[in-house]
Amino acid sequence: MPAHMQGRRDSSGVVLLIIPGLFLLALFVGLQQLRSRSPELRQLAEVDAPRIRTISGTSSLAPSGSRYSPQTIRVVLHEGLLSTATIECATPYVIQEATTSRPIAQGANLRSAEVEAIPTGLRVGPHLLDFTAIRIVPQGSGLIGFGGNFYRGSFTIHRTRSEDGLKLRPSFSLVNHVPLESYVASVVDSEMPATFPLEARDAQAIVARTYAIARHKMVAPSALFDVYGSTRSQKYLGAEYIDAKGRRLKGETPAGVAAAQRTEQLVLTCQGQIFTSYYSAVCGGRTLDGSTMSQRTAPCLKSVTCDGCRNAPLYRWQVQLPAEQMLARLSEVSPASTSNLASLMTIRMRQEDAGRLPQFTLTDGRHFQQISSTDLRRVLGTKELPSPQFSLRLANHQIEIEGQGSGHCVGFCQYGAKGLAESGMNARGIVQHYYPGAEVSRYQSQPLHAAEAPNVASR
Ligand SMILES: [Zn+2]
Repeated sequence: MPAHMQGRRDSSGVVLLIIPGLFLLALFVGLQQLRSRSPELRQLAEVDAPRIRTISGTSSLAPSGSRYSPQTIRVVLHEGLLSTATIECATPYVIQEATTSRPIAQGANLRSAEVEAIPTGLRVGPHLLDFTAIRIVPQGSGLIGFGGNFYRGSFTIHRTRSEDGLKLRPSFSLVNHVPLESYVASVVDSEMPATFPLEARDAQAIVARTYAIARHKMVAPSALFDVYGSTRSQKYLGAEYIDAKGRRLKGETPAGVAAAQRTEQLVLTCQGQIFTSYYSAVCGGRTLDGSTMSQRTAPCLKSVTCDGCRNAPLYRWQVQLPAEQMLARLSEVSPASTSNLASLMTIRMRQEDAGRLPQFTLTDGRHFQQISSTDLRRVLGTKELPSPQFSLRLANHQIEIEGQGSGHCVGFCQYGAKGLAESGMNARGIVQHYYPGAEVSRYQSQPLHAAEAPNVASR
């Protein structure tokens, strides 16, 4: 199974499964920053709305030939808050106060430098810094490392406090501020195998850029990051990473950079608006309607048929488990609603149409329990049930689950894009197939994060 399908993301998790810790982190630290009325935040709040113009309908994506733009995406590199971290920088670096960009320390390199939240601020290797928000900026084209990955751009570290029992413990968040197009190049390589056709990877670049910009526009101005670096948003390995065997590999290949360049600044708009372009690995033959994730998804997230992913892993899958085990799991998660189901006698399934999720009615003959396939998948595990598209059958006290696809199955189907590209469709056709009614537009904006753009190492 391709690496990018393991532990496959539900992009929906960004909206639907906000982990309270990070949400509170963003809110808490954001509020702290608002109180300080920093120049950076004032400037962030004043960033103009992007100007969009629709590209005339050419059948291929013309290479732009222009260099990378300075727009920046903020990627949080961990879940929850950190109390310590080890970072690396092989080149000279400058540490700035994050709110003013004023240099406060520098050095020749950082080798296994420990970052720690201390009562008065932050410690970074040998530097004791009396500041609550700092930015570490490698000089030149240097990379900066954390957790076995090496990133372009800079790290911004915000000190805060997390709950530790009844006490508040100093902690921090670590956010990679990376040029948008470098981010897109890495996401293409992180999300889609290098063996996939060029037009599929170009389509992935457009979808990934759209997703990131939509998230940026959606988060509050005071938020500290736009996206997660994991499949919770989009998988992002950075420029280089160390794999399980200890090898240092490219997280951003020349082919990934080329996909970003060929599609530079191209995004999808729906009724003139950039939208959250959800996507998943394999739809199983038909994508699901966006309303299966949220009532607020864009109108272009319509269910469509997909002939491209027929040969993909998990196009069809089967799982079996004892009926008692399913009832026990349901009872753990929601005891009040299931405690009256003594045993499982029958299961009825209802599905309004192919683009909607099935609903199940479980009964022991006297009592009834209704549950959607999404909720049941959460209960039984998103790894055990690769997608929410499945049917249930009860036979000999066993639940037989037959499903299709991997991921939430809304929007762009990565394996479907592979199949469509192999049949001759270009990137524009592919994205317009999966987001019917969407247009490919050129994104022109002020820098996403104007205050820091001049300080971020660009390629
Ligand atoms: Zn598909």
